[in-house]
Amino acid sequence: MTLLDFRLIDSSTIPLDGLTSHVGNTPLLPLRKLSLGLSPRVKVFFKAEWFNPGGSVKDRPALNIIQNALINGDLGNGKRLLDSTSGNMGISYATFGAALGIPVTLAIPASASPERLTLLRALGAEVILTDPSEGSDGAIMVARQLATERPDLYWYANQYSNPANWQAHYLSTGPEILAQTNGQVTHFIAGLGTSGTLMGTGKYLRDHLPNVQIISMQPDAPFHGLEGLKHMPTAIKPGIYDESLADRNLGIRTEDTHAMTLRLAREEGLFVGISSGAAAVAALQVASQLDEGVVVTVFPDAGYKYLSDRSLWESK
Ligand code: PMP
Repeated sequence: MTLLDFRLIDSSTIPLDGLTSHVGNTPLLPLRKLSLGLSPRVKVFFKAEWFNPGGSVKDRPALNIIQNALINGDLGNGKRLLDSTSGNMGISYATFGAALGIPVTLAIPASASPERLTLLRALGAEVILTDPSEGSDGAIMVARQLATERPDLYWYANQYSNPANWQAHYLSTGPEILAQTNGQVTHFIAGLGTSGTLMGTGKYLRDHLPNVQIISMQPDAPFHGLEGLKHMPTAIKPGIYDESLADRNLGIRTEDTHAMTLRLAREEGLFVGISSGAAAVAALQVASQLDEGVVVTVFPDAGYKYLSDRSLWESK
């Protein structure tokens, strides 16, 4: 299926209260000191996604995937939600699974940071560790195998191919950015993991502002330190990813990203995760080439889950 074939599923029939009612509607904040060298008519903003209850942008697709599965009768009768994840999606599934009484099983590379694994176990998820040398693709293979072997036990959420992933952003992130910029956004930039953020937000903005520039960003090399992001040419291509949506793509270097992540903490008071550093590198690169414009990107999570990478945070 292509993006255009999808129909949005109306999930408003599942009542949202408590924790789940606080997903989305995150602040849109400006980069201040880091944008001082830009043209005065250029503004750079980011969606502060760590304000979500599960601590990341992945609350949006996780909740939408669960809502759609409940509507379709895929979950219930003790069936376990199964997926592969590099961390944040698992934390969101585990958070809402605990809140809504849905058991959760996650295939996750054994190399995931200890903070993430402990957090998942604290939230009651069953964690299946996969070969670290195979990265997130290894976790995908294990989840696929479990889903095939035990369809009676597992419902495979498959965030990489589930349209409810990008639709969550079409329904929330996109409309929020349009409203929060009063329709003034000229450039939207997002990193590629499953690609849900870029696909859903990008498609919504394109549908409402035909001249908006949609820019994807990903690591510049297969072996990289940008947790949460994929080097698409060498990864299993997500089913929801349509590379023709973006007007252009930027390859981002790990060293630039680590330096930027530290600058965000020290110069802006923004203690954010590594993919937020990559988003800032990309957004500032795009903004530096403009005379005028409103550049918007997404900062997917905060820095807490990456604290064990001490060399990143403690450098002079
Ligand atoms: N940054 C982080 C920290 C993430 O966990 C993810 C999701 N893997 C992304 C960025 C990319 O988001 P998406 O899956 O919507 O492309």
